[in-house]
Amino acid sequence: MSELKDLFKEINIELDGDKEVKFQRYYELLIEWNSKFNLTAITDYDEVMIKHFLDSLSIIKAVDIKTCSNLIDVGTGAGFPGIPIAIVFPDIKITLLDSLNKRVSFLNEVIDELGLVNVKAFHGRAEDYGRGEFREKYDICVSRAVANLSTLTELCLPFVKMGGFFAAYKSEKVREEVESADKAIDLLGGKISEVVNFVLPSTDYDRSIVIINKIKETSMKYPRKAGTPSKQPL
Ligand code: SAM
Repeated sequence: MSELKDLFKEINIELDGDKEVKFQRYYELLIEWNSKFNLTAITDYDEVMIKHFLDSLSIIKAVDIKTCSNLIDVGTGAGFPGIPIAIVFPDIKITLLDSLNKRVSFLNEVIDELGLVNVKAFHGRAEDYGRGEFREKYDICVSRAVANLSTLTELCLPFVKMGGFFAAYKSEKVREEVESADKAIDLLGGKISEVVNFVLPSTDYDRSIVIINKIKETSMKYPRKAGTPSKQPL
């Protein structure tokens, strides 16, 4: 277990109190549920620690997340990046959203077992929630491995308050994605403030986090109805 602590120290995160035990239990639940429902292709302990847990927390390379009071993770799947962020930053109120109900059942089990009182999981599509009570309510929206940047900005930016931002976790081809999402980001009220590139520790994976600031309210035209943002990207 000390290895996880050392790994997190590489990105300046101190796993104090019972945080290390929580990550351990999260791993066990992930493996247990993965045998019944498809949650992740990565199951090896070290790989989960690095490619899921550490990667989820790499947002701290891009932003001072401690200053935010709430965050929404869109298309969280088995809880990435939202659950690792919730374990390390218990003062941030975290909303997890996913369109697959079985994944949300898994998330509710993790929330109960780990006693994550700062987290709530919801079942539904971003296109629907983004027009409802969660619209423009969050300091940060995060999303990893859900869609191309143009589609993702339409799904995510409606949740962000004015002055807040959307952080997209990306890997390869980030430059092309940024170029082709330019028009969509502008239409949706966003502006790219930074693209932070780094290599995931203990790997040779190139990772990027694209930070999009919300500089204007998003028009009520967006998000369009479920499925349209991915079928017809702006
Ligand atoms: N973010 C997780 C990760 O990095 O491991 C899961 C990635 S998984 C490839 C994509 C997830 O996004 C799936 O769990 C899927 O159900 C969810 N998803 C896709 N489109 C969505 C939408 N429009 N609204 C909400 N969830 C969506």
